Amino acid sequence: MTARVVVIGGGIIGLATALALTRQRPDAGVTVLEKEKQLASHQTGRNSGVIHSGIYYRPGSAKATLGVKGHASMIRFCSEHGIRYEQCGKLIVAVTELEQERLGGLAERAASNGVRCRLVDRQEMAELEPNVTGRAALEVPGTAIVDYRQVGQGMADLLRAAGVDIRLGQAGVGLAEGPAGVTVKTNDGPLAASAVVNCAGLWSDRVARLHQRTRRQVVIAPFRGEYYDVVRPPGAPPLISRLIYPVPDPVYPFLGVHLTRGIHGHLHAGPNAVLALARHGYSWRDVDARDLAELATFPGMWRLGARHWREGGRELYRSLRRHAFGEAVRRMVPVIEDDQLVRAPSGVRAQALSRRGELLDDFVIETSGRVVDVINAPSPGATASLEIGEVVAARAAALLD
Ligand SMILES: Cc1cc2nc3c(=O)[nH]c(=O)nc-3n(C[C@H](O)[C@H](O)[C@H](O)COP(=O)(O)OP(=O)(O)OC[C@H]3O[C@@H](n4cnc5c(N)ncnc54)[C@H](O)[C@@H]3O)c2cc1C
Repeated sequence: MTARVVVIGGGIIGLATALALTRQRPDAGVTVLEKEKQLASHQTGRNSGVIHSGIYYRPGSAKATLGVKGHASMIRFCSEHGIRYEQCGKLIVAVTELEQERLGGLAERAASNGVRCRLVDRQEMAELEPNVTGRAALEVPGTAIVDYRQVGQGMADLLRAAGVDIRLGQAGVGLAEGPAGVTVKTNDGPLAASAVVNCAGLWSDRVARLHQRTRRQVVIAPFRGEYYDVVRPPGAPPLISRLIYPVPDPVYPFLGVHLTRGIHGHLHAGPNAVLALARHGYSWRDVDARDLAELATFPGMWRLGARHWREGGRELYRSLRRHAFGEAVRRMVPVIEDDQLVRAPSGVRAQALSRRGELLDDFVIETSGRVVDVINAPSPGATASLEIGEVVAARAAALLD
């Protein structure tokens, strides 16, 4: 029988994994299952669209190594396949003295990770970005913007041309491992596979539990990121030319509300980070009883809440009050007024949470039996997707021999 790999999840990581498999194991058949009617409709199609340069991440971590390599491979992929991107660069702006100290630490990290950047003082910052204020900034020229939905589409075109079977509207709902392989149960009947890859994003813990019989070690905590469009009067000159980020708080895995220019010409403020009430919780109205019950019965959730209730409360307030959101933006760009902020579609991050209440920081990929699970692939997961895909594909290929 020809070896067949079934990839569960048609987001950017599932697609990149399938692409890497077609190169690493051209003899193996690959099937991608996507439960939605379209590819890339969750995290991949609802993010900030930034090709991160890799400066934030702990040197030696998977985020740092795959993120830095992924930045280069994503830009190469876009150039080779005619996908529009723009290397606009970014400024990380320190507003307080403490943030200025942290900026120095970030510059050191960038150097360890081999990412080009430089510290600029208040005066130079004003010359680079006249509408931005702060004490100092880190300029990162390599940061770029792209539409990851288009990247996913580009990957899917290549996959179809290589004979990969992409099945939309088909969910993997059961996994049964036997001596000869795995049977993947789908809503459209069973599929025989030699290996399975779980790239189910917000549902990846649930798919992992289809074959892992042990106690839950991690769950996916869905953190919604809300955005506002910054609306400018017709004909107004651009407000910023680079992306404008705050200095992140090292305690949290999120980067803080930032200003992002989109590749289609819009200007976005966000995302914040509020716990969503469903895995597909794109607004406060989206509530899922099963998702909530799974979180409420996981000890890590309560430990996380006990540790971070203060910050959680601040994020909640910012979610409900546009003015509070505006204040976060005005710290760096004071000319933006509340009535220029118009709600835009949100995204939900798949963030793995441990029993101890820790938000896992790094990418986590595990193999058990004939299944490779992508357990944690938050930002910069889209940037690093081609490199993550190579790693996951190599793990799956090893199961075919
Ligand atoms: C608000 C926000 C901003 C971000 N900004 C950036 C950024 O600027 N730059 C960056 O690099 N990264 C960013 N990220 C992170 C990035 O979007 C993710 O790392 C990346 O998209 C993860 O891809 P994925 O394929 O794992 O997940 P997804 O894109 O969520 O794909 C998973 C897919 O699996 C499918 N699925 C689930 N269960 C099943 C099943 N049982 N059967 C079949 N299919 C199933 C889902 O429908 C979904 O399509 C951001 C994320 C968010 C949410």
